[in-house]
Amino acid sequence: MRPFKYTRATEPNGAAAAVGANPQAKFLAGGTNILDLMKEDVERPNELVDLTRLKLAEIKEAGGGVSIGALATNTDTANHPLIRQNYPLLTQAIVAGASGQLRNMATNGGNLLQRTRCQYFYDTAMPCNKREPGSGCGALEGLNRMHAILGWSDKCVATYPGDMANALLALDAVVRIKGADGVERTIPLSEFHRLPGDTPQQDTNLQHGELILAIELPKSNFAKNSYYLKVRDRASYAFALVAVAAAVELEAGAIKQARVVLGSVAHKPWRSQEAEAALAGKPASAESFGRAAEAAIADAKPLAHNAYKVELAKRAIVRALMRASKLA
Ligand SMILES: Cc1cc2nc3c(=O)[nH]c(=O)nc-3n(C[C@H](O)[C@H](O)[C@H](O)COP(=O)(O)OP(=O)(O)OC[C@H]3O[C@@H](n4cnc5c(N)ncnc54)[C@H](O)[C@@H]3O)c2cc1C
Ligand code: SF4
Repeated sequence: MRPFKYTRATEPNGAAAAVGANPQAKFLAGGTNILDLMKEDVERPNELVDLTRLKLAEIKEAGGGVSIGALATNTDTANHPLIRQNYPLLTQAIVAGASGQLRNMATNGGNLLQRTRCQYFYDTAMPCNKREPGSGCGALEGLNRMHAILGWSDKCVATYPGDMANALLALDAVVRIKGADGVERTIPLSEFHRLPGDTPQQDTNLQHGELILAIELPKSNFAKNSYYLKVRDRASYAFALVAVAAAVELEAGAIKQARVVLGSVAHKPWRSQEAEAALAGKPASAESFGRAAEAAIADAKPLAHNAYKVELAKRAIVRALMRASKLA
């Protein structure tokens, strides 16, 4: 690991200003991703600004919904009564991720900003446009079993690997941010992560020095009927091959509104408005869910080693919707 300066922030304005003032600086939260990347020499900040003493771990009712502090751990978030009762989809998604020990360290802000698990990104001997823009994409013609089937570009075929953000997108979350100049703004989660396009080095629409303060969830009508399904190579401690955050609001057996978000199929959590439109007003049934799954995956473009994800994603969508509707 390369030497770096360590700074402990005591309040949010100072933290954002310190990172904003140094283009090579980064925030440190739980450290479960940034420190691994530094040990592998993938990330090379010359300064880390430690956020862990900031008072940003509160989870509270706000504006009819809930505000979740950026520094709250994944464990505390998943276990909080407000989340368990009103947003069980979020609890399910969080506990599907990583391991108990990691979730005790991992924070919500850091979770949103975790980087891809593409093996070429981690291997500094290989070309990777995300790590080193212009060097090429090792995965495009290489081993790409875990990679994207939707929204990829010839510059990058990586997936966003996280679980929590898939549920947050289904729940219409908004991210509250403080800039290096102290000014606050919000970004809907739908606009937070990016597709790779020609700039795969940029995972999100955050600017350098912007500090995540909180994630805000509006009141939800999905608490009764939602389900997070994660399909992976082993039952725990593995990233998803395909994940589905499914939620439906039912009225007399018909679907009033639905959310279908796919994880690990694209460079960002992938909300399928096509699937949601196919479900609106239809009876909650295997037939309706099958049509929605076809609509969700119609534009998939698999790579050499991940065509299996197309059928897997369709079946996962149907199963998640069946479970959400309590039909299975
Ligand atoms: C073995 C292993 C298995 C895993 N499995 C899964 C899994 O199955 N599913 C899943 O979803 N995740 C998984 N993870 C990822 C884990 O959830 C993330 O590493 C964790 O959530 C990151 O949070 P952190 O607080 O440790 O972030 P850090 O590592 O401290 O930071 C990550 C990034 O976020 C930035 N950052 C942190 N906080 C803020 C903030 N408030 N504002 C702005 N920037 C900030 C940092 O600068 C850094 O760039 C796994 C990790 C490991 C090591
Ligand atoms: S898929 Fe993206 S992260 Fe992986 S090697 Fe290609 S450019 Fe790098």
